[in-house]
Amino acid sequence: MNINNWFTIEEIDSMTFAISEYGHWEKVHSYLVIGDEYAALIDTGIGICNIKRVVDQLTSLPIKVITTHVHWDHIGNHGLFDEIYVHEFEKDWLENGMPGLPIEVIRRDVIRDITKPLPESFKIEEYEPFRGKPTALLRDNEMIDLGNRILTILHTPGHSPGHLCVYEAEQGYLYTGDLLYKGTLFAFYPTTDPLLFVKSVGKISRIEHITKILPGHNEMDLNKNFITEVNRACQDLLNKGLARHGSGVHEFKDVKIYF
Ligand SMILES: [Zn+2]
Ligand SMILES: [Zn+2]
Repeated sequence: MNINNWFTIEEIDSMTFAISEYGHWEKVHSYLVIGDEYAALIDTGIGICNIKRVVDQLTSLPIKVITTHVHWDHIGNHGLFDEIYVHEFEKDWLENGMPGLPIEVIRRDVIRDITKPLPESFKIEEYEPFRGKPTALLRDNEMIDLGNRILTILHTPGHSPGHLCVYEAEQGYLYTGDLLYKGTLFAFYPTTDPLLFVKSVGKISRIEHITKILPGHNEMDLNKNFITEVNRACQDLLNKGLARHGSGVHEFKDVKIYF
């Protein structure tokens, strides 16, 4: 199978690309952000197909992989890159695996509801989430200079302890990972934290200059009002004492949150 059949490449601008996996039910997006000296790859996808070959077609610059969080659907191709960055609170997961999710459950989710042919070389019985040492750890407000393009790391815990969003102040691009996308947002695992999730949504809702929201899953067409809506939903849950584990699935007009 041609790799370009598995990945869909969408040009956000001439130096920024979404690399999407629409053949998988999770519709995962990774993002290639190209500066003058380095390129950043924000997440590396599910690991069904080799994302590096797509990246190599788009840039020859050295790649810095920035991990929004250490869930299997965002670290699938980390092993193909030399420079990996993760928030300090998920260093241990990157090195030793995320606790509490059996490999059978992960493998079932990796291959269910696939709508595109899988690469012939892919064997689900060999699928394992990446484990390895990061090059360096990231902290809130840290800046990564790609050469004429600066990414700011925003620690946005809740969905996971070291979850981060990436913000490009100049362009007004906000890469939101799993903190915010269209579809059911969640913080119901034992390793999640609904209160921190609410706080993190509040944090990104205070960013003034946003021209594009670039989510970790599903539809790409989001506008700033969507952050306002999610924030309003979160504040409503907080006020009602529902920002806690086990409170269930909460449905709003365009927002669904599962605590
Ligand atoms: Zn996640
Ligand atoms: Zn995800």
